[in-house]
Amino acid sequence: MTHRSTNILTILILAGLVLGAIVGEFGFFDSGAVIDGNHWLKTTGDLVLIRPLKLLIVPLIFFSVIAGITRIGDPSKLGKVGGATLIYYLATMLMAVILGTCLVTWIQPGMLPEEVRASLQASGQEFGAASTATRDLSSAWLNIVYQIVPVNLLDDMVKVRPLGIIVFAIAFGLALAAGGDKTKAARDICNAAFEGLMILVRWVIWLTPIGVFFLVAWTVGKIGFQSIYGPLGWYMATVLIGLAIHGFIVLPLILKLVGGVSPYQFMWQMKRALMTAVGTDSSSATLPVTIDCAEEEGRCSKRAANFVLPLGATINMDGTALYEAVAVVFLFQLFGIELELSQLIVVVVTATLAAIGAAGIPSAGLVTMVIVISAVNMNLTGQESSPLPIAAIGIIIGVDRILDMCRTAVNVWGDAVGARLITNLAPDETIER
Ligand code: ASP
Repeated sequence: MTHRSTNILTILILAGLVLGAIVGEFGFFDSGAVIDGNHWLKTTGDLVLIRPLKLLIVPLIFFSVIAGITRIGDPSKLGKVGGATLIYYLATMLMAVILGTCLVTWIQPGMLPEEVRASLQASGQEFGAASTATRDLSSAWLNIVYQIVPVNLLDDMVKVRPLGIIVFAIAFGLALAAGGDKTKAARDICNAAFEGLMILVRWVIWLTPIGVFFLVAWTVGKIGFQSIYGPLGWYMATVLIGLAIHGFIVLPLILKLVGGVSPYQFMWQMKRALMTAVGTDSSSATLPVTIDCAEEEGRCSKRAANFVLPLGATINMDGTALYEAVAVVFLFQLFGIELELSQLIVVVVTATLAAIGAAGIPSAGLVTMVIVISAVNMNLTGQESSPLPIAAIGIIIGVDRILDMCRTAVNVWGDAVGARLITNLAPDETIER
């Protein structure tokens, strides 16, 4: 994409975001028709942007990872790159979750007047009655382990389970690299298929401004910015402050200190991906744009980005981890349960795990939060305070979408920072840095 068209596209996406927010806030929402069970704004946004982006995810992950791995080639080098990537993911997620836990314990957004608490608790019963499923930790672990040891590639592709596809693509990429001349044709085909997909991505990306407009109009129309003044205002503010600190201070510091890269310039280069994340609420749907931005503008190597970004969109979720910690501690506060240090440690560990297990789709963090609540409840049992009902999640469902916009942007930003750092370990020969 030329510099000029990138600029035009950026302006259009920004216009889509702003206009969507204005239209959503000032009233065209209630009058909307319902199509296929959803407000027409959402259905249109899905049709225009989410479905085409989703269509690209599976082939893109498959060919992108193979292309990245065959470029890295040597398994020992891959081990180093893979190890560094996983350490980065885990370390930054832990930092995010610890930051969230400290903030929510300090700000105490759940310490509200008794009558406000009572009415919020009642609203939770109403909303959340349907979601009383409990998930324990072992099943969360098992779920991840089963995905890492896939049994049927096509099944994973059909069900869009990225981890299984990534594991197969890594193994196959290594085999293709090990095959030397015998597998050169297959390597070339996978590389060419990846380049072809990226051309398709660059076409689809032009739909972003329109899609983002409809989706943001729907989100803002449904929730409304005035919710920030409601009883959940402090909770929302705590999440947003945490995300801002992590996104604007912690990750940039890491990028600067570890990678020697100018962080805000890189953030600017990733702006299309970040805005798409805000508009779609989905790091998976944003993945095509993230890869495009990272390689075209962010000067990330193909070796690093092709492998780090698909994996990151699946397991690296700093924003989600932070959000889950804040939300769970907030709900416990709301129900009058003060968590002690040992329980806060349970929150830190399980929120990280829950974020790893969350899919890169809208509201996934809200669902995996059940794991965190169940773990803390288990830890609390036997003590005086009564555990938190899972249905309490219903209290925060109403404002989740707005928070999802912001945490998804931080998730994508964390992936991009990872790709830029790993570029130092695995540069492309052709890219001079
Ligand atoms: N929407 C987030 C993402 O796609 C996941 C979540 O926190 O719900 O990254």
